[in-house]
Amino acid sequence: AKSSLGPKIKALDINVINRIAAGEIIVHPANALKEMLENSIDAGSTAIDIVVKDGGLKLLQITDNGHGINRDDLAILCERFTTSKLTAFEDLSSLTTYGFRGEALASISHIAHLTVTTRSTESECAWRAVYHDGKLIAPKGGSSAEPKATAGKKGTQILVEDLFFNVPSRLRAFRSPSDEYNRIVDVVGRYAVHTEGVAFTCKKHGESHHSIITAASASIVDRIRVIYGSEIASELIEINVAPAKNIGLLGARGWITNANFNAKKNVAPLFFINHRSISCAPLKRALSSLYSSFLPKGGHAFMYVSLLIEADKLDVNVHPTKREVRFLNEEEIIQRICDEVRKTLGAVDSSRLFKTQM
Ligand code: ADP
Ligand code: MG
Repeated sequence: AKSSLGPKIKALDINVINRIAAGEIIVHPANALKEMLENSIDAGSTAIDIVVKDGGLKLLQITDNGHGINRDDLAILCERFTTSKLTAFEDLSSLTTYGFRGEALASISHIAHLTVTTRSTESECAWRAVYHDGKLIAPKGGSSAEPKATAGKKGTQILVEDLFFNVPSRLRAFRSPSDEYNRIVDVVGRYAVHTEGVAFTCKKHGESHHSIITAASASIVDRIRVIYGSEIASELIEINVAPAKNIGLLGARGWITNANFNAKKNVAPLFFINHRSISCAPLKRALSSLYSSFLPKGGHAFMYVSLLIEADKLDVNVHPTKREVRFLNEEEIIQRICDEVRKTLGAVDSSRLFKTQM
C-alpha cells in the first residue's frame, strides 16, 4: 500500500554541514587565498610569498614571516569558530584585525588537504600539522596525527592542496585554471597596493617569473607602478578627504588617474574600508559618473581609495566572505569623497588647459 507518510526528516551529518558551509565561503581558490593573506597580515608579517599551481586548484601555498602559531594551539586551529582575535561580541565594534570568525582555516580543511608549518617567536623549532575536516590527521605515510617538529624559519606556511577534491560539482564548474589564477593575482595585487610595509610575491609553481613582486619599503605609487604599470602610475593624483566626525568618517585617501588619462584596460576600482578590500557599488557608481564628465565617452579611470570610518559605524558581519560591508552615513561619506575627487580632477584639468593655452 502507498504510504501516507511524508519523507522522514533527518539531521545532516556534521561533516556534510561543514562542507556545504565551506563551499559558501570559498567559491574560488582566490577566496581561500584572500583569507590566508589576511591571516598573514593579521600576524604582523612583513613578507608574504604565494605560489600557485593550476589556478590554485592543485596547490596554494602562502608563506609569511609573522608571529606564528603556538604548538599547543595546533590541535584546535582548524576547528570552526576558534580564533585568537575575538572573544566577546562587543569586540566586533573595535576590531583591528581582518579575521574574527575563526572559520577560514576550518572551511578550507573541509574541502582540501591542508598542511600548516609554523614557528612562533618563542619556539625553538617549527611544527608541522596536517588537517582534514577540522581535525589533525596523520600525514601521508605517517602514523601519528600529532604535530611533528621540523626545521623552519619564524612564521607560518600554509599549504592547500586539491581544493574542492570532495566537491565534484564545484570542480566541474571551473572553466580554466588561468581564470582562477587571474583572480588570485587580482586579490594579491589589491592587498599589495594597500598594505604598506609588507613585501609581496606571487607566482605560478615551477616558474621563476613573478606575477607580482613588491618591496616592503615601496610607496603606494611604486606599488601601483609594479602591479598596474607605469602608464597608470605616472598619471596619478593624490586625494585626501578630511575627517568628518559627525558622519563617522576618520578620513580617506587615495590615488586616482587624472582627467587626461584614459585607461586601456578597465581595472575594477581598488576600494578599502578600514583596510578591508571591498566592492562598494554606490561609491563605484558615483565616481564613474563623475569621471564621465572628464573622460571621453566609455573612458576608464584607475582608482584606489582607502576609507577609514569609525569601527562601530561599520558592519563587516553582513556576509561570510566579508566582501560586502555596510556602514552608516554611506551617502554623506560618498558625497565627501566625490566632492574631493571633483575638486582635484578639476584643478588638474584647468591647470593643463592653462598650460596648453600659453
Ligand atoms: P580568524 O582569522 O577569523 O581568527 P582563521 O580560521 O582565519 O580565523 O584563523 C584561525 C586562527 O589561526 C587565527 O585566529 C590565528 O590565531 C591563527 N592563524 C591563522 N593563520 C595564521 C598565520 N598566517 N599566522 C599566525 N596565525 C595564524
Ligand atoms: Mg582569518
